[in-house]
Amino acid sequence: MKKGNLSINSENIFPVIKKWLYSDHDIFVREMISNGCDAVTKLKKLSLMGEFEEPDEPYRIDVVASPENKTLQFIDNGIGMTEEEVEKYINQIAFSGAEAFLQEYKDKATEEQIIGHFGLGFYSAFMVADQVTIETLSYKPDAKPVYWECKDGTEFSMKEGIKTDRGTVITLYLNEDSYEFSNEYRIKEVIEKYCSFMPVEIYFTNADAPAEEPKNETVDSTVVEDTEKTETEEADSENTSEAQDEAAEDKKEEPKKPKPLNDTTPLWSKHPNDCTDEEYKDFYRKVFHDYKEPLFWIHLNMDYPFNLKGILYFPKINTQYDNLEGTIKLYNNQVFVADNIKEVIPEFLMLLKGAIDCPDLPLNVSRSALQNDGFVKKLSDYITKKVADKLSGMYKVHREDYEKYWDDINPFIKFGCLKDEKFLEKMKDYCIYKNLEGKYLTLPDYLEAGKEKYENKVFYVTDEVAQSQYINMFKEEGMDALIMTQTIDSPFITLLEQKNENVHFMRIDADLSENFVGEALSEDTVKDYTDKLTETFKKALNTETITIKVEALKNEAISSMLTLSEESRRMQEMMKMYGMTGMDPSMFGGSGETLVLNANNTLVKYLLEHPDAEYTDTLCCQLYDLAVLANRPLSAEAMTKFVARSNEILSILTK
Ligand code: ADP
Ligand code: MG
Repeated sequence: MKKGNLSINSENIFPVIKKWLYSDHDIFVREMISNGCDAVTKLKKLSLMGEFEEPDEPYRIDVVASPENKTLQFIDNGIGMTEEEVEKYINQIAFSGAEAFLQEYKDKATEEQIIGHFGLGFYSAFMVADQVTIETLSYKPDAKPVYWECKDGTEFSMKEGIKTDRGTVITLYLNEDSYEFSNEYRIKEVIEKYCSFMPVEIYFTNADAPAEEPKNETVDSTVVEDTEKTETEEADSENTSEAQDEAAEDKKEEPKKPKPLNDTTPLWSKHPNDCTDEEYKDFYRKVFHDYKEPLFWIHLNMDYPFNLKGILYFPKINTQYDNLEGTIKLYNNQVFVADNIKEVIPEFLMLLKGAIDCPDLPLNVSRSALQNDGFVKKLSDYITKKVADKLSGMYKVHREDYEKYWDDINPFIKFGCLKDEKFLEKMKDYCIYKNLEGKYLTLPDYLEAGKEKYENKVFYVTDEVAQSQYINMFKEEGMDALIMTQTIDSPFITLLEQKNENVHFMRIDADLSENFVGEALSEDTVKDYTDKLTETFKKALNTETITIKVEALKNEAISSMLTLSEESRRMQEMMKMYGMTGMDPSMFGGSGETLVLNANNTLVKYLLEHPDAEYTDTLCCQLYDLAVLANRPLSAEAMTKFVARSNEILSILTK
């Protein structure tokens, strides 16, 4: 029997690995099963090259758990290993990888999921097991079976085994903290998480379940009954050898109707032409557990210059962009790597749901290396381009659909434009906006239609109820405005102004357009009226800071209106966003509010003629409050006064 020390460093490595990987230590399942898949893939390649005759029985991986004995087995009928291979790939390679791991991560205690990146897959078994055994028989005609075992990851022993069929059995004797993995539901959950799309069929067996159960057990519980005897080395190796015998025998009983846990040909691996809508929707439901139907999807299918396949779904979402949350699952050759790796997937695409499989991705390096990887940048650019192409294609060919989806997808597109210059370049001509009639226009459409009336101004509505008075005036004048009611619209407007030099956005209540004004008053009259009314209002409202503007509006019914300059309003919104609510807006050039009074209105005319009448003050206060009410809610104090005053006015009517 051959014995040896695995590595001078391994005593140091285990505590470190256990601690750092704690949150993800279920990842060993992925590593064990993906090694099984690799073993099968290697054999398939050999048979393609004519070096191995394809066997009759199908390739498979079995996961066998015994909750009683606290063991977990991973069994494959892949390529197997010879003694030299165990020596080379298990005893040496893994542990040199571990050394590299330690070197790299000594000081970065919070890094996640490193194991898969370091080719330390097999080694990850020791995160959950005190003892690991390998029984393996190589496909090579004259190969001898090998039995290998290792306790605590420090010392191994190796000898000729008794396995009679090709492949590998890895047995994990779970440590106290990891018994959960012998529980059927727990282990199945982990398999689903990491292995749902692995390319070799995976079957689960509960070794402790009675044989009659319809589950069709492949391996009997006797395999692992010897765990308790692992105290002394002697007893251990002998008993485990016996177990090998029985395991080999039991494995011959083939299950009748096995149902694999995984889907070996995920939808993304098929050609888009061969996939039906129903299949796309099924896949979406299954993978994302979202029972709302996706709006539409993009099937990525690329072989050159790199290999990338995947499906991205546009989910049905809430319209406030800060509530959006997507998931992009990243796979490497059908092996799940992680969700939302921001180094690979452009940030704004994380709002989508999707699966991306990129076998070329260098995942055996750390994340920090990924960030600086030119390949990763290309990949991310490619995905962005594909998404933009799909959207612009839909705009051009299925405009109706595009408009139908727009309310759902626009926060995503706007977010993308804000985050990614290239996406903006591609999408800027395909951003549409709903107008006052509920039709969708592009920005150039809007500007063209309003060429005469509003030059390069873009009027917009942020609240259709609060701004309804202004909306009505616009409609009467045959003017149009764009509905931009979402949180993201505010930064998006800023972006649009940056990118379109002459275009200026103005909220619909920012200023009264010349179009509303009838016959213009002479300059002198305006000055005279303004001075008079300012004085009257200052006295009535008991304030020094009111700004009054007199206009002769076409619509005589309008008495007073409030406008709020675009700049001041944006400044105030910004202050609010940064939590500077306590500050006095006058510090930034006044509140920006202007009380517009209509010189054609009888009430205003009355005020001009009666600056000191009995009800002048009441009238001023009421006109001011009404103007405010049409623009924003009154403060509590102002509201109380408004109600009392309104009652007072009504009682005058009954006198
Ligand atoms: P990696 O898979 O990244 O090469 P691992 O630590 O997971 O690193 O595995 C080390 C090596 O051990 C593999 O490359 C393979 O040669 C061998 N190996 C591990 N598991 C199996 C298995 N089930 N069948 C055959 N060979 C295996
Ligand atoms: Mg591996």
